[in-house]
Amino acid sequence: MVKGKPQLRLLSYGVIAYMLLAFTWWSILLFTKNRDAFAAKREYIHLIMAAQDNELTDEAFYTSPQYTTLENAYRRQEWMILGEALVFVVSLVIGVWLINRGYNKEMLAAQQRRNFLLSITHELKSPIASIRLVLETFRKRKLTDSQVGKLSNNGLKEAERLNKLVTDLLLSAKLEIAYAPYMEPINLAILLEEMVYKVQEKSPKTQILFHQDGSIPPIKGDKPGLTSVFINLLENAVKYSHSHTAVYAHIEAKQDQSIVIEITDNGIGIPDKEKKLIFEKFYRVGSENTRTTKGTGLGLYIVNEIIRAHNGNIQVLDNAPNGTIFKITLPIKHSKPSHNITQQTQNIEESTKI
Ligand code: ADP
Repeated sequence: MVKGKPQLRLLSYGVIAYMLLAFTWWSILLFTKNRDAFAAKREYIHLIMAAQDNELTDEAFYTSPQYTTLENAYRRQEWMILGEALVFVVSLVIGVWLINRGYNKEMLAAQQRRNFLLSITHELKSPIASIRLVLETFRKRKLTDSQVGKLSNNGLKEAERLNKLVTDLLLSAKLEIAYAPYMEPINLAILLEEMVYKVQEKSPKTQILFHQDGSIPPIKGDKPGLTSVFINLLENAVKYSHSHTAVYAHIEAKQDQSIVIEITDNGIGIPDKEKKLIFEKFYRVGSENTRTTKGTGLGLYIVNEIIRAHNGNIQVLDNAPNGTIFKITLPIKHSKPSHNITQQTQNIEESTKI
């Protein structure tokens, strides 16, 4: 649940409650006035008819066309007032619901923007600070070859992190405007295994195991885009797991002409209420002030957009006893050729460099 300013909410609810009460009061008043007007007209007609006919009985009066016309008009007006009241109440309820929904969305977006600003500041500042430290150390101290090697590696890693951040930002902006995948035949099993190998090289403390079930037919897909998908999911699986646990990358072709890829970890898991939100741009579970992992909340947004562009889908499932499974399903037969091919591919290629 998104928290907004409670005073503002209370005030809006107060105004709405006042409107409902006022309207109810006006409706009752209208009902009463309508009834009084009916009674007055009835008396009037009765007087006129009695003046014309001295022997007028109640039965003759109540069955007379003058009275029935008057009564029909009165009933119609009653229904009209009731109908108006119902339409008003229903519109008000729908309006309140829409406003509330918009308000919650707005609050969520504001929270994401706050999160993004905090994380981006941190993500930009920390590699810059590390690279600066490395360069200052080079300048001030005489270092052995192994020290130079170690420091250069650290500096390069930080430069890569910075590069990934900037390219992810550019890519996510592009994805929002127009992402047209360049479809070429790909063997997903080979691609996934390659990415497992690359991420494993960077993360020696976690064991990443690749498993392929049967043979995998080639599909048409955007290679740089799908590379980015695998890297993001594998890196997340490592990042949100404790050291010395295993991550599994599994791929198999299903009878229904689809390929299923599962990236499974034994990490911290994702609470149910967060499962939908994590695919939103800049969304990160928890708060920026308490979080210890690095990130911007862009990775899964990019993954989801690329999978959707391949007519596939991605699900988040709980792993037992703990951890998460990201399950991607891609159709084997796809898809429209893209426009803007070269530019799109280059953009994604940039982002997937690790
Ligand atoms: P980032 O990792 O940069 O924060 P992502 O878009 O890749 O951004 O992920 C969004 C959020 O989803 C993460 O902040 C994290 O809270 C959660 N998440 C993603 N992958 C996992 C995972 N394998 N296990 C647990 N939480 C995850």
